[in-house]
Amino acid sequence: MVGVRIVHHLNCGSFRFGLVTHVLACETHSGLVMVDAGIGNADIDSPTSKLGRAALALGPALERNETALAQLKRLGYSANDVRHIICTHLDYDHISGASDFPDALVHVTATEHSVAAARRGVTAKLRYRTHHLPLDMRIKTYGGQGGPQLGFSTSYRIAGLDDFTLIPLPGHTLGHAGVAIRAGKRGWLMHAGDAFYHQSSIGLGPNSSGLRPRALRAMESMLAAEPKRVNFNHLRLKELANSPDIGIQVFCSHDATALQALQGTTTRT
Ligand SMILES: [Zn+2]
Repeated sequence: MVGVRIVHHLNCGSFRFGLVTHVLACETHSGLVMVDAGIGNADIDSPTSKLGRAALALGPALERNETALAQLKRLGYSANDVRHIICTHLDYDHISGASDFPDALVHVTATEHSVAAARRGVTAKLRYRTHHLPLDMRIKTYGGQGGPQLGFSTSYRIAGLDDFTLIPLPGHTLGHAGVAIRAGKRGWLMHAGDAFYHQSSIGLGPNSSGLRPRALRAMESMLAAEPKRVNFNHLRLKELANSPDIGIQVFCSHDATALQALQGTTTRT
């Protein structure tokens, strides 16, 4: 039994235009389970040599006190309390911080892992960094048919963590996925990673981002491995977010408004 007791909503990487990097740290009976890892200390130490200039174009703040490790320490945890990191995808702002938690098992779709490990083509070489997948990293991958969940035909229950499910949402990257969490009395939470950039993109409130709607859409298309699937994901997630039968909070990685709203709600489940 896992049982999600508390969900901490953390910003583990500020960027230009008021963008944040929304990371979850879930306290369970099996230790801390993170969803994404934000930007970690090794890349903050040497950003240009480790991440490359292209990755720095969006102006990451690269502040040590924003790392998941620093924030979890302030909450009274230590690095080895983190047992699992479930990654929506392997762009640096989502995987970089994993190196601060060497005892954690990393979970990701098999497609994302193979594309990131192969780094075929210029875009993949810019997007994925070899040091984010060191040979001694413990990784579990998920692929194949899976099973239905929350109206999606394919999903993968995380091994040993029944309350956590990876739901493939390819588009931003080829192996991108959302992470659905059964969070006790809070009901379902869905961390949709970079499947959208602001809640207004899936019809949840007005655009409060630092970018105009057209600029938001342009950025999504520019960064997407399969731009045509981005809109399809918006529609699927809009439908999910508005499903009265399920009762789920859907949010993404880089939306500061949604992060602040969730930080303001009670985190105990
Ligand atoms: Zn991202």
